[in-house]
Amino acid sequence: MRIVFIGPPGAGTGTQAERLVKTYGMAHLSTGDMLRAARDAKTEVGLKADQYMSAGELVPDDIIVAIIAKRLQQDDCRNGYLLDGFPRTIAQAEALDKMLAERGTPLDVVLELQVPEEELFRRLAGRGRADDSPKIIRQRLVAYREQTEPLLKYYSRRDSLRSIDGLGAINDIFDRAKAVLDLLAG
Ligand code: ADP
Repeated sequence: MRIVFIGPPGAGTGTQAERLVKTYGMAHLSTGDMLRAARDAKTEVGLKADQYMSAGELVPDDIIVAIIAKRLQQDDCRNGYLLDGFPRTIAQAEALDKMLAERGTPLDVVLELQVPEEELFRRLAGRGRADDSPKIIRQRLVAYREQTEPLLKYYSRRDSLRSIDGLGAINDIFDRAKAVLDLLAG
């Protein structure tokens, strides 16, 4: 399966993504993880990206699209993948559509994890990552609302979107996600 996993910062997509890829044997493509690895390795791209990440802003589309284009060519993506944290803007979604159309490998589903904003703030403030200070958290939530949320309409228009409740126990949320994917897989 080829899946896009969308959720606001703090929704828990990373946690659920890890379990889903194990269960279904898909590659886990987390742009947040890729950018943090590039930053830690101090590559040119990583250092540039860090300026945006540490401010709670999105990294420019051209950088992130280039990273994903390269990643999708790797062998492990042939058995399906879960995109975690990408696309985050309409421009990224359009670039992804183009790449997938060229390969003749459309997405199977866009899965949204829904969590109310008060709960997100509470979770992020308790997490303690460097980009989790209150000011930066607010900026990331704004970036989500303004730049990423429009994707929900973009994908629901073509009936690709399935939304699940992201509140409750990790196991229960996982079961909800699995129910959606199992239905698709037949
Ligand atoms: P979160 O904890 O908000 O889910 P991620 O770990 O997915 O965050 O990403 C951390 C940061 O990396 C984001 O705040 C953003 O600066 C950058 N980033 C990750 N994916 C993208 C993307 N697709 N487009 C632009 N920036 C991105």
